[in-house]
Amino acid sequence: MMTGDQYVESIRKMKMDIYMFGEKVSGAADNPILRPSLNSVKATYDLAHMPEYEDLMTVTSHLSGKKINRFCHIHQSAEDLIKKVKMQRLLGQKTASCYQRCVGMDAMNSLYSTTFECDAKHGTAYHKNFLNFLKQAQENDWTVDGAMTDTKGDRGQGPSGQSDPDLYLHVVERRPDGIVVRGAKAHQTGITNSHQVLVMPTVAMKPGEEDYAVSFSLPVDTKGIFMIIGRQSCDTRKLENTAIDVGNSEFGGVEALVIFDNVFVPNENIFLNGEVDFSGMLVERFAGYHRQSYGGCKVGVGDVLIGAAALVADYNGAHKASHVKDKLIEMTHLNETLYSCGIACSSEGYATSSGGYIIDLLLANVCKQNVTRFPYEITRLAEDIAGGLMVTAPSEKDLRHEKLGPYIEKYLKGVDGVATEDRLKLLRLIENLTLGTAAVGYRTESMHGAGSPQAQRIMIARQGNIDHKKELAKAIAGIGRCCSDCKK
Ligand code: SF4
Ligand code: FE
Repeated sequence: MMTGDQYVESIRKMKMDIYMFGEKVSGAADNPILRPSLNSVKATYDLAHMPEYEDLMTVTSHLSGKKINRFCHIHQSAEDLIKKVKMQRLLGQKTASCYQRCVGMDAMNSLYSTTFECDAKHGTAYHKNFLNFLKQAQENDWTVDGAMTDTKGDRGQGPSGQSDPDLYLHVVERRPDGIVVRGAKAHQTGITNSHQVLVMPTVAMKPGEEDYAVSFSLPVDTKGIFMIIGRQSCDTRKLENTAIDVGNSEFGGVEALVIFDNVFVPNENIFLNGEVDFSGMLVERFAGYHRQSYGGCKVGVGDVLIGAAALVADYNGAHKASHVKDKLIEMTHLNETLYSCGIACSSEGYATSSGGYIIDLLLANVCKQNVTRFPYEITRLAEDIAGGLMVTAPSEKDLRHEKLGPYIEKYLKGVDGVATEDRLKLLRLIENLTLGTAAVGYRTESMHGAGSPQAQRIMIARQGNIDHKKELAKAIAGIGRCCSDCKK
């Protein structure tokens, strides 16, 4: 297992093609806007070396028998699935951001079982290719970016109905030694901090859409792959050397639009290539695993936000007000409900034919559906408790100013015994989580990450087994029985 520092060096050595504000940038390790995002992934390495977190962060590989980071593991039991969620809550608490490495973990677990089942039906050799990749990922302790979301163009059309075929990533050439692909993947959190990009189709494909049913892995610095960094609210505060104004200056998450401009993929890196009947399985399983993930990571970030709201109530002298206490109870109730869903879908996990464990898909989708709502309410309550100063406070430069500083100290003070500076730090953290850079990871990602709400509702409809429930109702109501004594 790499240490955090070794991980940072490994990313620094890569020759990624990254653009931001219209300019090429050297990489995440040395860029003030990208570095906090790298630090969040670094935490997944650092914590794995801390004895107190060993049980959650590390596990024995079923392939090599060696101790590996859990982010590279294929779940071997329901207990593994539960520990995954607990690990994610822990990392959310430690970073208060998206630490990005779960997408690759979820992609690897989906591909493990899907390639196995595809080979069994079609006689393909994708599972062997995938095992090879997995062994390297475990051996090298890779961070893998799972790339699913295509840009999708006209949402009323599928991949084959687009006027521009590149709006879904697809194969443009088949060669004896591999394929050439073109397209783009959107919203790629953590791609600048990843060793590999693991591409999957974005929807279930149908016959005629074989070129779009493609999955493969490549190093992120492969020729033809380049990234355009997405803007975040308040992102350039990270350039101002004012840690207080950033709110969470150490950690973050950054997204990119990733372009695949005629990229060659060798045969041994391909995990699906034209088998449209398995694209839906891959999408469904990946979505299920990532919807489970949100019952861990968002809960951990929620813990930080609830703590910040309670602390700011103390600093404001409002902690004894009954409505404040009740709001903190409500926030805790909502947050723990999300966690309950994450644990429940894991506890109900079962083995696939490959041996890898998968979550209960219905409960995982219920988990994520709740995540599309509850963090918004938690955020609303945090803003309520914090008060308006979280969006009107002066800058750190004003606080440090010779003339202005003493006035800010005097007039923006809360209760005795708490430094004005600490109160401002806390308000900026709440601003960061609810409106700033971390709001991408805590708010909007709660809505759209791992699929927008309607995607879960489709799965809930499919998995809810309404017919069985109708039979239950009929049996109790006696519908279909000839008389009350007849049990037939
Ligand atoms: Fe992990 Fe959560 Fe970020 Fe997904 S959103 S990568 S589960 S921290
Ligand atoms: Fe996500």
